[in-house]
Amino acid sequence: MNSEVIKTDAVIVGAGPCGLFQVFELGLQGIKAHVVDSMRVVGGQCAELYPDKPIYDIPGIPFILAQALVDNLMEQIAPFEAEFHLGEEVMVVKPSDDRFEIETSAGTRFLTKTVFLAGGVGSFQPRKMRLEGIDAHEDKSLFYKVRDPRAFQGKSIAILGGGDSALDWVLELQPSVRSLTLIHRRAEYRGAPASVDKMKALVEAGKIHEINGKVTDYRANDDGISGITVTTLDGKVEEVDCEALLVFWGLAPKLGPIAEWGLDLNRKTVNVDTEKFETNIPGIYAIGDINYYPGKKKLILSGFHEAALAAFAAKERLEPDKKAHLQYTTTSPLMHKRLGVEV
Ligand SMILES: Cc1cc2nc3c(=O)[nH]c(=O)nc-3n(C[C@H](O)[C@H](O)[C@H](O)COP(=O)(O)OP(=O)(O)OC[C@H]3O[C@@H](n4cnc5c(N)ncnc54)[C@H](O)[C@@H]3O)c2cc1C
Repeated sequence: MNSEVIKTDAVIVGAGPCGLFQVFELGLQGIKAHVVDSMRVVGGQCAELYPDKPIYDIPGIPFILAQALVDNLMEQIAPFEAEFHLGEEVMVVKPSDDRFEIETSAGTRFLTKTVFLAGGVGSFQPRKMRLEGIDAHEDKSLFYKVRDPRAFQGKSIAILGGGDSALDWVLELQPSVRSLTLIHRRAEYRGAPASVDKMKALVEAGKIHEINGKVTDYRANDDGISGITVTTLDGKVEEVDCEALLVFWGLAPKLGPIAEWGLDLNRKTVNVDTEKFETNIPGIYAIGDINYYPGKKKLILSGFHEAALAAFAAKERLEPDKKAHLQYTTTSPLMHKRLGVEV
């Protein structure tokens, strides 16, 4: 646990496209930011949900793949040297005098003058099993991510899922486990064709057991989960013995802890004004998909505009005696200095 408190002017919650562009707009104002995201990669929905899909409505860019947009944003914000804290969910945001105390799931703590919520549709969490009482086995014999593959050596395991994560772990763990059953609710797999081929070859060779169906029950003993019941696509019931159950059903966004910070919520969004994109708590701004105001459209370009105005507002909050003047990046020597460009 990291106990040292990081003192800063700005913390951005969320490294989706809007959170990344917030780094840029704050940078132009001379404000350095820390960025926290519960995912291990930057890019939010663009990276997680549709990296290979083309986007056609970014101004001035007729066509760009979502992951390329994220890569370009990272290049654009590089001069501002934001510090990233990835794989950490912001759990607590609470006012403390004229600042905010922030704490993440990894124990990182900040004392910041401003907060920028760019949490999108929430933080991405693994989709979980819904069988009664099964949550009690999480991180003991039920896993939604693999921390140490050696933990499964010599064990009989069942892997649930049909995407890349499930297939990658099937291929990686198969040589070291005693037995492996792969259970996917459909006959078609979403993972890379090459991984599907390798998995099918292992099935042919009798090295793994593949079932297309749904887990309908589980058994447990003092050591944890000991088996599952699978109802196959053709209605048969199969009992599978296993000592560990690994579930890779993808990630789903959840508003999560943001709902508990005293913000004025509008269903799963946060109400803001349209001058500063400030929430009901002065000093906390909300931009991108997470915010709501009359006429709001959940588009990347809306979030970019919001980030610019929120940065101006934050500048005035941090330096109330100075007016934050609009300066063009084309002509302003100060902007050039902050961008690190020579003209
Ligand atoms: C299939 C698809 C196609 C789309 N196509 C387009 C398009 O063509 N044009 C367009 O403009 N828009 C499009 N969108 C919408 C666009 O992706 C969103 O508007 C955009 O991603 C919003 O960006 P954001 O930064 O606000 O949030 P997000 O991209 O949702 O990122 C939010 C980030 O915040 C993190 N987070 C949330 N809560 C916490 C917390 N407590 N602690 C730490 N991290 C947290 C999440 O993990 C996430 O990474 C599309 C969306 C989808 C799903």
